[in-house]
Amino acid sequence: MFKGIPLSKGVAIGKAHLLDRSKFCIIKRKLAPEEVEGEIKRFRNAIEMAKVQMQEIKKRASKVADKYAVILDTYTLLLEDDVLVRDTIENIKNNQLNAEWAITETLEKFTKLFNNINDEYLKGKKDDLDLVVHGILRNLIGHSQETLSDITEPVIIVSHALSPSDTILMPKSLVLGMATEVGGKTSHVAIFASALGIPLVGGIRDLTSKLNTGDRIIIDGIEGTVIVNPPQEQLQHYQKKQENYRRYEQKLLENIDQPTETLDGCHIRLQANIESPHEIKSLRKFGAEGIGLYRTEFLYLMAQNLPTENELYETFKKVAQGMDPLPVVIRTLDIGMDKHIADFNHDSESNPALGLRGIRMSLAHPDLFLSQLKAILRASLYGQIKILYPMISSVEEIVEANELLNSAKDELRKRQVPFNEDILVGAMIETPAAAICIDHILKEVDFISIGTNDLIQYLLAVDRTNESVSHLYQPLHPSVLKVLKDVFDSAKRFGKPVCICGELGGDPLATVLLLGLGDLQELSMEPHSIPKVKKVIRKISMEEARQMADHVLGLTSTEEINQYVTAEMRSRFPSDFDRDMTFEEKMSPVENNSK
Ligand code: PEP
Ligand code: MG
Repeated sequence: MFKGIPLSKGVAIGKAHLLDRSKFCIIKRKLAPEEVEGEIKRFRNAIEMAKVQMQEIKKRASKVADKYAVILDTYTLLLEDDVLVRDTIENIKNNQLNAEWAITETLEKFTKLFNNINDEYLKGKKDDLDLVVHGILRNLIGHSQETLSDITEPVIIVSHALSPSDTILMPKSLVLGMATEVGGKTSHVAIFASALGIPLVGGIRDLTSKLNTGDRIIIDGIEGTVIVNPPQEQLQHYQKKQENYRRYEQKLLENIDQPTETLDGCHIRLQANIESPHEIKSLRKFGAEGIGLYRTEFLYLMAQNLPTENELYETFKKVAQGMDPLPVVIRTLDIGMDKHIADFNHDSESNPALGLRGIRMSLAHPDLFLSQLKAILRASLYGQIKILYPMISSVEEIVEANELLNSAKDELRKRQVPFNEDILVGAMIETPAAAICIDHILKEVDFISIGTNDLIQYLLAVDRTNESVSHLYQPLHPSVLKVLKDVFDSAKRFGKPVCICGELGGDPLATVLLLGLGDLQELSMEPHSIPKVKKVIRKISMEEARQMADHVLGLTSTEEINQYVTAEMRSRFPSDFDRDMTFEEKMSPVENNSK
């Protein structure tokens, strides 16, 4: 049994198909001075070819899964990346090297840089860069490799890595599961596999040298394990687990048209967090009752230039129309910290998490902010749009932002452009300052949305992107729960709606506790989490939830809280929260009843 990282849930059993991705043999060649110009041209041609290939792949990708097509934009951006191209050309020119060798050196340089960074997301980017460079190398060498389009029987793909063209070309109905030697949670293969529901395990070093094509293998995407040639008894165990997991998923989706109500009739609106308008088509499939957080910075991150008011307006209008009559909460630009855009220099910040990010950046660049506000206002005619300000840490920021909002409204009135005059405005509660002075904040806004991802980071002084302190990033820390309770209580006193849009809001293990802590009307989460959270809500009463919260508020250590909440949830929902998730004889009688 090989242990890796579970990247897409489910169990696959079948024959292995080993994909040969042996590395190219690159030879170093010193160029004659008169060859240099030609070599640079050859390199640029290979880049252009790669761009065309990527566009082709993207066209096919959008037919498979919208979110996946968006991911491929990252690859196109890398192909246009100044550093990648410029570094290689400089190397060809200054050292008179052949293009294949020069780009391999560029890749090595970046790989070293990435290896020194302890961040899952950036590690995923290293794999992206690797794939892009190999695409360019293939074009330079004219090398063709085995493709997956020739598969004619159901198989499990095993490979060192999978490129976007591999995943696009593979006949989806014949791919039972996948296992790779590389790949993190943010890798494109992981997103692709989850979107299609194909079990995937990644990060198993040297896996390709440990099995042969035709071997019978099991992919357990729940535990993150791969088993080669299992004995009969083990095979039967996994067949049962596979069937139970399939039924479990099916059952979850059966829930989506039912109201999200506790046993005692309290309705909670479950909404989706999105990053791209492409995602809205799939939201109804998961039963989303609106968009609780639209992270608009991705519009800026993807673009070559800053998007114009009109471009933003067209996008927001599409989202509003696509969701109408359901609400759409548009969060204004939240760049800074780990998300940067080209025209703004963040390099000088030694502590970007505490720097010019979120609303601070918008207030420092009023023109940028105004163009976004005008676009949102104009789109507000086409649906139930609300505005949300990120990273608020003082009342003054809200007042200043609202003044700019009023200027945006005045300008539109002058231009005789209609908009919803009663548009609602909310603040993200994600800094301790905002949470502590919540009463002042609530006086200035129509609603609040708690960004637990940042709130936890700032309350506990734990960088949310730093792997070496990730064990200290504890959502159920007593301080976090106390702050949440205080915010809920204030919102109730002011009669203002409150939503949680950080990851904690989509964690079904925390759902009962969160409901018990306060009067929560809304949660917003990754669309995939909605059916799981809904299942929990439909099976508990507010009375039970309050009891759980009361007990937890009396506990003093995170460990005790984690243990208590996990034990409670396991006893209520054995098939959802069992650690080994064998799904064997663990389903409650109701769940086992396959009606
Ligand atoms: C949060 O901080 O919880 C949040 C939802 O915002 P983001 O993750 O985009 O910072
Ligand atoms: Mg945040």
